[in-house]
Amino acid sequence: MANGYMGKMLWVDLTREKIREEVLEEKLCRDYIGGYGIGAKILFDRMKPGTDPIGPEAIFGVVTGPFDGTSALGGSRYTVVGKSPLTGGWGDANSGGNFGPYLKFAGYDAVFFTGISEKPVYLLIDNGKPELKDAAHLWGKDTFDTEDMLVKEHGKGTETLCIGPSGEQVSLIACVMNNKGRAAGRSGLGAVMGSKKIKAVAVRGELKVPQADEEKVKDLRKTCQKKLTGHVDMLREVGTPVIFNFLLEAGDTPVKNWAGAPEDFPQFEKIGGNSVMASVARKYACYRCPIGCGGHMKAGTGEYKYEEDSHKPEYETLGMFGSNCLNDNLDSIILLNDICNRFGVDTISAGAAIAFTIECYENGLISKKETDGIEMTWGNHRSIVAMTRKLVRREGFGKTIADGVKVAAERIGMGSEQYAMHIQGQEVPAHSPKFGVPWGICYRLDATPARHTQGGGPFPPGLMPEFDRNLIEGRGVLHKRGTSYNHVINCLGACVFVVGGYHQADVLVDFINALTGWDYTMDDLLKAGERIANIRQAFNVREGLNSVRFHVPGRIVGKPPIERGPLAGVTVQEEKLNMEYLTAMGWDLQTARPDRAKLLELGMEDVADTLE
Ligand code: SF4
Repeated sequence: MANGYMGKMLWVDLTREKIREEVLEEKLCRDYIGGYGIGAKILFDRMKPGTDPIGPEAIFGVVTGPFDGTSALGGSRYTVVGKSPLTGGWGDANSGGNFGPYLKFAGYDAVFFTGISEKPVYLLIDNGKPELKDAAHLWGKDTFDTEDMLVKEHGKGTETLCIGPSGEQVSLIACVMNNKGRAAGRSGLGAVMGSKKIKAVAVRGELKVPQADEEKVKDLRKTCQKKLTGHVDMLREVGTPVIFNFLLEAGDTPVKNWAGAPEDFPQFEKIGGNSVMASVARKYACYRCPIGCGGHMKAGTGEYKYEEDSHKPEYETLGMFGSNCLNDNLDSIILLNDICNRFGVDTISAGAAIAFTIECYENGLISKKETDGIEMTWGNHRSIVAMTRKLVRREGFGKTIADGVKVAAERIGMGSEQYAMHIQGQEVPAHSPKFGVPWGICYRLDATPARHTQGGGPFPPGLMPEFDRNLIEGRGVLHKRGTSYNHVINCLGACVFVVGGYHQADVLVDFINALTGWDYTMDDLLKAGERIANIRQAFNVREGLNSVRFHVPGRIVGKPPIERGPLAGVTVQEEKLNMEYLTAMGWDLQTARPDRAKLLELGMEDVADTLE
């Protein structure tokens, strides 16, 4: 087995209450690296097309990468994988904190669950010994209490991932949480976990990750760490809220459910980075991260009495619950973030659902009669908090919007779909493709539509040529290269913020080779990234999805263009961008289906045969 990996995955059959180990083959690791690369290949091979994502045949997985639990700089992330109940296609989401490394210290690179348990359970892995345990006492608890209770039960050094009450109720925008505020937020995989009645996975252990040349990994870390500058300093000081003011003014951040412009929200600084930092009590870092962009807040002393350990809201949360709802009350946003974290709901999707509700209300499609007496008007922070509390509990009107805006619009009818800002069922995050051209491609054509983290960055010097941000001609080739690199970072279990600070792409190759003993080149690495993009895409094609035909709301791409603000008159050249990217990827221009020749070139003959 390759160094850098524990060499084992665990399969848990929840229906039969059986657990078995399986060897993680080196070829799978070389070809698909880890994280959603390995996850997508396993689910493509072992889950039938057309499987109900929240049914017993669905597979839910937690997968690490070779960076996790080693000295490789930035290795802290695990990925959850499954078929997304939101999009009906490939689903993944990743999160930092400590869980990924500790899953490996407990003995496994990955855990896959099949079936549905009769009763709530959690999986405990203690130094290589897995056991399914009764979770009756945890069911109904929020994610913070669940974590505390599991640590109390199994001792200090126990790391957990879990779902909250929203995941238990199979709300389709539910997420998976760890370390009290770190979220594997997108794709609705908290609902998949809840459908299987898995409350949590708790891991503890002291096993060592084998490394080919441990000293070299440590040396590389030291050299790299010294060079971490630029965006890294800002992240260290403030975290992701640092970009809010700038991006809001530039038109990137959504305002008023994507229909507004920055001048509709002139008070944006009230919820920007400096304002957030004034309320931060202490900062923290994911596993061995030298940046430490995380933070916990001071206790709320004003109208909103959130607790001291509530997590700092990230940029996306500020955008979705702030400017997108015209809400300038920072305390309410800190509380909203905390409510979502504790109940286990994605703040991007929840913020979008609230903005959708407000727009429906303001346009008379719903009234206080439907909203349980709550006046859902723009910027009304008390109403936003009240409705979010209902959303996470699936109470009253909250039940209508708890499965995201696509389902909510189907439930409400009356043309409300026009206010539902989603692509193939997943809510659009807080970055505008009119501002950042890469999102004009990935929001539609990535296997997980509407994902801001699949936009093709970071682009370290030495890998990507300098280029005009707005370049369209030739953009497909750049995007292919950028996303391939990005897929590798994610699948290594690394954080894009940290790797973005390496300032030289070759270091990533050096880390991989020192960890595994392979002789990877940059070309091998980019080819692995391309293979990962293709296996995710093949999963969707086999599910019958055609991303070329996905509906992208006009507001998102400027059709018609907005008349005010910095992006006035801008329309994303979607057709041209799509064509450029599909051509570069070797995917069919009408169906986005990977060509057989392309799959053969990537050594994916088995996938090509299955697709045929
Ligand atoms: S930069 Fe932030 S998110 Fe990334 S590993 Fe460090 S603390 Fe975690």
